[in-house]
Amino acid sequence: MTGCREPSRGAGLGYSQAVDVDLLIVGGGINGAGIARDAAGRGLSVLLVEKDDLASHTSSASSKLVHGGLRYLEQFDFKLVRESLAERERLLRAAPHVVEPLQFILPLGPQSRPAWIIRAGLFLYDHLGKRELLPGSQSVRMEDFGEALKPELGRGFSYWDCSVQDSRLVVLNAMDAAERGATILTRTELVRARRDGDRWAARIRGPGHEQTVQARAIVNAAGPFAAELVGRFDGVHRRFNVRLVKGSHIVLPRLYEGEHAFILQNPDGRVVFVIPFERDFTLVGTTDVACDEPSERPAIEKQEMDYLLDTIGRNFTRTVIREQIIWSYSGLRALIDDGSSDPSRVTRDYVLELDRDGPPLLSVFGGKLTTYRRLAERALDRIAHFLPAASGSWTEQAVLPGGDVPDLDTDGYASSLSERFAGISFDLIHRLTRTYGTRTERLLEGARTASDLGEHFGAGLHAREIDYLIANEWARTFEDILFRRTKLGLHMPPEAMDRLNAHIDAFLSGKSRKQLL
Ligand SMILES: Cc1cc2nc3c(=O)[nH]c(=O)nc-3n(C[C@H](O)[C@H](O)[C@H](O)COP(=O)(O)OP(=O)(O)OC[C@H]3O[C@@H](n4cnc5c(N)ncnc54)[C@H](O)[C@@H]3O)c2cc1C
Repeated sequence: MTGCREPSRGAGLGYSQAVDVDLLIVGGGINGAGIARDAAGRGLSVLLVEKDDLASHTSSASSKLVHGGLRYLEQFDFKLVRESLAERERLLRAAPHVVEPLQFILPLGPQSRPAWIIRAGLFLYDHLGKRELLPGSQSVRMEDFGEALKPELGRGFSYWDCSVQDSRLVVLNAMDAAERGATILTRTELVRARRDGDRWAARIRGPGHEQTVQARAIVNAAGPFAAELVGRFDGVHRRFNVRLVKGSHIVLPRLYEGEHAFILQNPDGRVVFVIPFERDFTLVGTTDVACDEPSERPAIEKQEMDYLLDTIGRNFTRTVIREQIIWSYSGLRALIDDGSSDPSRVTRDYVLELDRDGPPLLSVFGGKLTTYRRLAERALDRIAHFLPAASGSWTEQAVLPGGDVPDLDTDGYASSLSERFAGISFDLIHRLTRTYGTRTERLLEGARTASDLGEHFGAGLHAREIDYLIANEWARTFEDILFRRTKLGLHMPPEAMDRLNAHIDAFLSGKSRKQLL
């Protein structure tokens, strides 16, 4: 990058200097972060701007699955399923600390598709993609999976996909990008951009500064805002129509024992996932509600809560009421308008739209967490010939930060660390390894007991972890820490919040911040 300081972690750019990069990426969701990582690894100078926090929109509001998408087979979306299944295995190898195998139980009941159709679908699911790490599907008896479900759901099938800590996957890509030289600026918005000879001149605005950046190419990875963002590029017109579909999830007190998830079939033909979540909870989702405009803070509506609770009521022996909902979140999918009248049936595949009327603008529409790596690879391939410095693709076998866990066995790795850090509880070490993988060793360096990790704020969160997240992962607020870098917000006592905020403020304004810049 010419004119930029060393890769920084959110400190802003050198304001007095001209900033000139190969690639400017707008949006720090999974697609923007994945593209930044891929581009930086190809030797390009990269700047990513994210107007809020990393993963603060759709990429933290997913069903948290890395999956082939069994139901897309019904829509004959074989290409999407095949690609997703292949990426599932790659991600499991690249980030075994945040991507975990998850068994799904699919009960057969009165609302179900016929058993032979499901069996045929699962056969395809088992064989469409390369499957080395996950078991195949099989028929099961529900009684082997506890007594939570109604007795009339006697039979069913089992198959495997993966769960993922969605916002951590985004942060890991941003970290990898930064470690390969990219500059990542959070809380920094692209205001406008215009073509100026062989460069884009882009106006960006961050906390306390506004400046112009020159870029040879721009990627618009603004997720649900991508269509609207096109209007900020002078002289660019969008070819694709985008539909926004809101999906909401609810978090309930744990509904059943066991580590398996359920996939439940509803009378309207949709499926709802019921997934063990953060040890003490069950995650239920999702809904599909068409929306007209991208909202900054989409929220669940009462009808969506009732829809999900009715699904639980139809399938589980216990009923759950609205008052028992502990947390909910909603996200917006930006889907390519393929003319389908039913939001659930709109394709989940992505489109890359290239405007090459001068220096290129590549806009990303649609996509899934699962396929982000492949999407990033394709995005770079589309713009590579405008960027002669770019080398070839490299991410297929590459591990994400902290993902170099021996034998992909994060629990075994936690046990070995727990012998090394014998004065720290196994529960804490286990959570840290499931969050940071092998980077846990950096976080715990020199600590002999938990008190060496500084002030304890509750739920196993110590000052050392907060400082690590601010210094290494762009965390700036309690929400960044409690609901995206971790999910400790679900366990944290409310009385800890004042102390936690005071610690964050002190760290950001104090001596340690100087070391960050
Ligand atoms: C309910 C739901 C469930 C899902 N479940 C799954 C699942 O289980 N598995 C799966 O694989 N996929 C799932 N998906 C799909 C997946 O979550 C999305 O495809 C993915 O997160 C989209 O990422 P993105 O980077 O395109 O968008 P986002 O994550 O929304 O990121 C776009 C970013 O751009 C930023 N931005 C916008 N405008 C500007 C600007 N002017 N300047 C700077 N920054 C800007 C925004 O702040 C935002 O952070 C789900 C989606 C939804 C809605």
